[in-house]
Amino acid sequence: MSGPGGSARLLSSSLPPPPAGAGVCEICHGPAGHPYPRCWSCEVVRRRLRLDVPDQQRILEAAAIKARHPVAYADAFAVATSIAYDAALMTGDPEILERGDPAWRVVDLR
Ligand SMILES: [Zn+2]
Repeated sequence: MSGPGGSARLLSSSLPPPPAGAGVCEICHGPAGHPYPRCWSCEVVRRRLRLDVPDQQRILEAAAIKARHPVAYADAFAVATSIAYDAALMTGDPEILERGDPAWRVVDLR
């Protein structure tokens, strides 16, 4: 890890997150106001998300991505979905960022 604060990030990421429960967000494991299961940030994001069930075309596109690139099956669906929506895929996954197709629109979250 390089750059300022790198060792602090490594240290904090090596600590196990607190278990979800009273006062702990079930998504990010940050503080959540009791008795809410999620913190406000995660709740806002959750409300804006909608389930995108893959249809046959998406499944075939994901399979083609998986066949051509050394990415995990689930990653192939993430890439196929981002392509279908003409959206950038926000990820920190090195398989996608370093071994994927340079034509994929990705945002490196690392
Ligand atoms: Zn949260």
